Amino acid sequence: MVSMARMYTASIRNNFTAAEVAEIAADPHKARLLEKIRANIWHPKPETLLTFIVAPQRLRDDVRADVEYHLHTDRCACCCDKVAV
Ligand SMILES: [Zn+2]
Repeated sequence: MVSMARMYTASIRNNFTAAEVAEIAADPHKARLLEKIRANIWHPKPETLLTFIVAPQRLRDDVRADVEYHLHTDRCACCCDKVAV
């Protein structure tokens, strides 16, 4: 059974299992829930990511902490790809 928390984590890390994909595809309620979760995921702006890499001290402490959490704890697949240059 795929939970809301797992849908959030799998969306951000882009690592749904085949069984989870099949479960969501078979359940319109879960598919709608997944759309809502995806629409509400926060990502840093590209220029914020760039500043985080080249000059993190220029970001406000709270912004830097948000980006750090997003990359290191949430491990966002999309943003981690962008910073892995
Ligand atoms: Zn992201």
